Amino acid sequence: MGRALVAGNWKLNGSRTGNVALVRSIAAGLARDRTVEVVVCPPFVYLPDLAVTLDGTGIALGAQSVSAEASGAFTGEVSAGMLRDVGCRYAIVGHSERRALYGETDALVARKFAAAQSAGLQPILCVGETLAERNQGATEQVVRRQVEAVMNHVSVDDFATAVIAYEPVWAIGTGQTATPEQAQDVHAFIRGLVAARSGRIAAELRILYGGSVKGSNARALFRMPDIDGGLVGGASLDAADFLLICSAASGSC
Ligand code: PEP
Repeated sequence: MGRALVAGNWKLNGSRTGNVALVRSIAAGLARDRTVEVVVCPPFVYLPDLAVTLDGTGIALGAQSVSAEASGAFTGEVSAGMLRDVGCRYAIVGHSERRALYGETDALVARKFAAAQSAGLQPILCVGETLAERNQGATEQVVRRQVEAVMNHVSVDDFATAVIAYEPVWAIGTGQTATPEQAQDVHAFIRGLVAARSGRIAAELRILYGGSVKGSNARALFRMPDIDGGLVGGASLDAADFLLICSAASGSC
């Protein structure tokens, strides 16, 4: 297992001056001997500026999405190669907001994963069920479909540098977090899906939990054996709370 990972998904938030203040506070508060890897994922337009601000801080840069296409007549898209060019190491793919609000299908998410991976980005693949699906007892079926759509499109070896984020849709931005036990059950299930194809890749794979993670609940979540860090939305915009989450993840892998 690699280092624990905490990624901040800023969503549609930020400003040039506010971003610099936020990342400077985060960088200043992170411990020197870090056993946690920290990533921030701002809106596309701020990536080049932040690549400069983050230089030498040890904090990595990620994008919130990526095109499935490499280049050409695809107005409004941003390719994986471009993201690498401006200093990104990670790209989130298949966030539930992209799936629900912008119609991203499992097939498109799989193509985005492949595009990111082949350009040298580390994809953070988001999966998770809605409340209705959980109430119907369909959590495993939904998560299996979402993970296998990608594993059937690429090789399991392509997961060697990837990350999976389990984000129950009912917990995102709602303040309602999955219990550590609920999250652990799904994380173990996801690791099992990957282990069915490669035990070695599954053992090394980092599986993050996302959904209303805060400084106050992070430690209990990250203590679970198959939770290797967090994908954090709202709390990633507050340096003090984000730092508490990072310190909870430190050494948890
Ligand atoms: C997210 O957007 O990935 C997320 C987990 O958001 P929040 O932490 O605000 O629930």
